[in-house]
Amino acid sequence: MAIVSSQQSPQPEGSKRSSKAKTAAVGGAQAKPKKSDALLQPEAKHEESAGKHDDTLRPQRFDEYIGQRELKEVLDIAIQATKSRQEALDHLLLYGPPGLGKTTISLILAAELGVNCKVTSAPALERPRDIVGLLVNLQPRDILFIDEIHRLSRMTEELLYPAMEDFRLDITIGKGQSARIRSLPLQPFTLVGATTRVGALTSPLRDRFGFVQRLRFYEADELGLIVLRTADILKAKITKAASEEVARRARGTPRIANRLLKRVRDYAEVKSTGEITQEIATEALELFNVDPCGLDWTDRRLLTVMIEHYNGGPVGVDTLAAATGEDSQTIEEVYEPYLMQIGYLNRTPRGRVATPAAWTHLGYQPPDEQMRLLS
Ligand code: ADP
Repeated sequence: MAIVSSQQSPQPEGSKRSSKAKTAAVGGAQAKPKKSDALLQPEAKHEESAGKHDDTLRPQRFDEYIGQRELKEVLDIAIQATKSRQEALDHLLLYGPPGLGKTTISLILAAELGVNCKVTSAPALERPRDIVGLLVNLQPRDILFIDEIHRLSRMTEELLYPAMEDFRLDITIGKGQSARIRSLPLQPFTLVGATTRVGALTSPLRDRFGFVQRLRFYEADELGLIVLRTADILKAKITKAASEEVARRARGTPRIANRLLKRVRDYAEVKSTGEITQEIATEALELFNVDPCGLDWTDRRLLTVMIEHYNGGPVGVDTLAAATGEDSQTIEEVYEPYLMQIGYLNRTPRGRVATPAAWTHLGYQPPDEQMRLLS
């Protein structure tokens, strides 16, 4: 399988976690984000997306891909059906927080189908000719992977409509009254789109995907297996208890688990014999200020504002956005899903509520529930 990485996906400017250092409107003075936050960010760092290392860690086939069982089942059926019909797989939209394996799935699909996968991202397709160049060079049944697909420019998106529906490119030639539309046939292909913000996609684009699938955060036991697998590839000796320790702090995200493992391995080599035991892993992760539950600065800030200023909630997402300097969509799509997954936050019709487990984790005494609701 040829993997043609046409462009490295740049970090989205001013989005996601880059606005952490903004001043809070609620909640008084803010401490600066801790150093550990860099380790806990789910987006790929440059060396991870460009480096050979990350590619060697990527599972190559579905039987190596741990977790996401339902998604694998859906795709397995689709692969078998398309293979027997010799058709291109239906277009697939994958959504979910960064680092959960969307690019990996696309590359595995190509390997399973025996076709090429071209990897690009929406910010690299600003000019219409960027997407035209990619589309005309596709071989029959190839996969085109577009990361951050919610950020496509309008013109690029409009070129994709007939390409996805009828494998045809409609190109306007000339200007004004003499402008004409020329149609170019394309090879049948599969578009795999990835996004962290499925709600930001236009409905004409979303409707053109045959499959819309969500990736979930990984359970601790699945992440533990991913850590053991990565340690094996890196030839690092690790105990099961240590792999679980790393997994617990990895925010349900394989990319973070792999990153933490590499830091812990360095620590074990320098401070000890090289073997990663639970004691060494805990020591290293404490040194790097990695929270025992993988919370980062913004998670803590969200919960602290809820507890200190709103007695644990309910509190509206816009208020939380003002307090943390994040936009409310990022809070809803990046932070809250993880906090809900670990049982620290509930969404209610009246707003967000911090659970007693969140109070305890942050060192507060949870109030008596009856008293809290009356206050
Ligand atoms: P995304 O595209 O969702 O941001 P990636 O596909 O780039 O995420 O995955 C990030 C890293 O996590 C990959 O390099 C891979 O090593 C690892 N990874 C992701 N999913 C799995 C999985 N299910 N099993 C093992 N490793 C995984």
